[in-house]
Amino acid sequence: MFNINNIIRDNIRNLKPYSSARDEFKGCEGVFLDANENPYNEPYNRYPDPAQRIVKEKLASIKGVRADQIFFGNGSDEAIDLLIRAFCEPRQDNIISIDPSYGMYEVAADINAVEFVKVKLNEDFSLNVSAIKQAINQNTKLIMICSPNNPTANSLNIQDMLSLAEGFKGLLVVDEAYIDFSSQPSLLRFMNDYSNLVVLQTFSKAWGLAGLRMGIAFASPEIINILSKIKYPYNVNVMTQKLVLEALEEVKAKENWVSEILLQRKYLTEMLQGLKIVQKMYPSDANFILLKVANPREIYDYLVQKKIIIRDRSKVTMCEGCLRITVGNKYENKALYDALLEYENKTK
Ligand SMILES: *Cc1c(COP(=O)(O)O)cnc(C)c1O
Repeated sequence: MFNINNIIRDNIRNLKPYSSARDEFKGCEGVFLDANENPYNEPYNRYPDPAQRIVKEKLASIKGVRADQIFFGNGSDEAIDLLIRAFCEPRQDNIISIDPSYGMYEVAADINAVEFVKVKLNEDFSLNVSAIKQAINQNTKLIMICSPNNPTANSLNIQDMLSLAEGFKGLLVVDEAYIDFSSQPSLLRFMNDYSNLVVLQTFSKAWGLAGLRMGIAFASPEIINILSKIKYPYNVNVMTQKLVLEALEEVKAKENWVSEILLQRKYLTEMLQGLKIVQKMYPSDANFILLKVANPREIYDYLVQKKIIIRDRSKVTMCEGCLRITVGNKYENKALYDALLEYENKTK
């Protein structure tokens, strides 16, 4: 059975966390002479709420979870790093992940000197559940997967994902950065059934707030408390908390963007399918499209010279010949299509 006490690192369990001025006095009215702040330059002179309580309450009501099931990080990258630092003993423990997927997982593992084991997806980009289960050993603390997956753009099967959590003594971390674009629901609704499930989401994609740096981890209060204990005290700044709260009060704006992007994804898919240089298009459940061409580097360079920047993913496992294209607005997508058509006519 999963027991958080069996996987937390000893130094983290025994850690006496830094207690900031704002931890010790949580009120928001009074004469504040406790944090050595400058009395001028409101509101930036004040330290942010280290627990981001107001933003958490708001997000909890929208997502149908409790505020104590939410951790906010300086981007999802912070949550990924803290999960590794809390649970993986350097040079001893390991993380199992999928290949291909988001490169940041491996970088974060390498920085922390934690072994990173990659299990290839099946040919159709689905999870190879049995291979992942075979790779698990007593030092496996995290299984990190991504759905919809970057760069393959597909959602993973829900039962496949949940089966990895069942009977696993470590944490199953599912990165749902692109969940708003997916035809499949979030795993959030299984959170209360799986005490070892961590769901990552972000304000960087559907919410249009990549520049503010705000990532989310949803998990049991026990897991959230551990992450909160080891984060930098003021990891989410005043402006980010304020603007994210405003965004959460305008959920409709996010929903409208998502609908428009999904519509543009459909149009862009249809346009690109008509190009002879496109050999294969993979179905997308995200805000980007993965496609296969004969000469990815040449097309990439041609587009760069037209000041259109896409991602060459042709060196990535199972993505030979592949380009990854973010769905833009209709003008951006048209510019991309026109440039590809021009390339096609030139090289005919
Ligand atoms: C874009 C992306 C993120 C977002 O990271 P942030 O640090 O929150 O901006 C997370 N995971 C994946 C797989 C992504 O592609």
